[in-house]
Amino acid sequence: MINRSQPVFVTGHRGMVGSAMVRRLKDAGFEQVLTATRQEVDLRDQAAVDAWFDAHRPAYVIHAAGTVGGIHANATRPAEFLYDNLMIHATVLHAAWRTRVAKLLYLGSSCIYPRDCPQPIREEYLLTGPLEKTNEAYAIAKIAGLKSCEAYRRQHGCNFISAMPTNLYGPNDNFDLTSSHVMPALIRKFHDAALSGAPQVTVWGTGRPRREFMHVDDLADACLFLMDHYDEERTINVGVGEDVSIGELAELIRDIVYPQAEIVFDASMPDGTPRKLLDVSRLHGLGWRHRIPLRAGVASAYQWYCSRLAVAAT
Ligand code: GDP
Repeated sequence: MINRSQPVFVTGHRGMVGSAMVRRLKDAGFEQVLTATRQEVDLRDQAAVDAWFDAHRPAYVIHAAGTVGGIHANATRPAEFLYDNLMIHATVLHAAWRTRVAKLLYLGSSCIYPRDCPQPIREEYLLTGPLEKTNEAYAIAKIAGLKSCEAYRRQHGCNFISAMPTNLYGPNDNFDLTSSHVMPALIRKFHDAALSGAPQVTVWGTGRPRREFMHVDDLADACLFLMDHYDEERTINVGVGEDVSIGELAELIRDIVYPQAEIVFDASMPDGTPRKLLDVSRLHGLGWRHRIPLRAGVASAYQWYCSRLAVAAT
């Protein structure tokens, strides 16, 4: 178990993953959960990151920061996704090594795996085939970060571990329709349609691709579990082990948010990877399982979205 009285730095604490991580660590009794806003430290700037690590000396790092986005943002802003993420991972890992951080958890993404690899996706399929084009830039940067963890372990003996989460959703997700992932996009689209009384909601692509969805509170719990119990070089998948089609997801969200709506598919928008289901047998073998079922998780994410709209309106 890692020491609850030592300082732990959560990068990206304003994002969905980082904020869930901060909640989880505080619940678990961590006394010093360190965070830094973008104004305080630009994680792409090695000198700024070095100065921050020297000043605060975290014992542990949970590296949840990154420039992230859905299929449209990834496909239209590849330079930004590549540059930001390459830099953010390089600076944080380097500073963590230099200041002798005792343990670091690096978070990747299931999109690092080859586009057409067998399903469910096992950890060893990494780098066995070409990547999905719509998120290649992001995936390359994420793979570089994962390989950096391995390199710092091998060359410097750092206890840097990495985990590959599946598609996530929950509080503090990005609900902007041009840059979000499918879950927040559809929650917002059905909500807006319910408000305006629009009869139809448009879902991108054919509805046939399959995705696995995990509530971010489950991810945060898994991350703490790995910080406490996992010290291996091999990356480990974090998911729920089940997937749904985008069409099924749209129906589930419709039933919760606006049951009268008719779903219309816009096949001019990309489908992306046909299927992305992680094999989570290694994580299950260690004794960890997710707790939040999809329907309950979507209902609570929708409640969070409504409460945020209510706050914004006051
Ligand atoms: P991906 O998992 O990297 O492909 O990223 P997304 O979460 O953005 O997209 C997942 C799937 O949902 C893709 O097949 C999208 O075409 C589909 N999708 C359907 N409607 C939407 C939408 O309104 N926004 C987004 N981002 N994806 C959508």
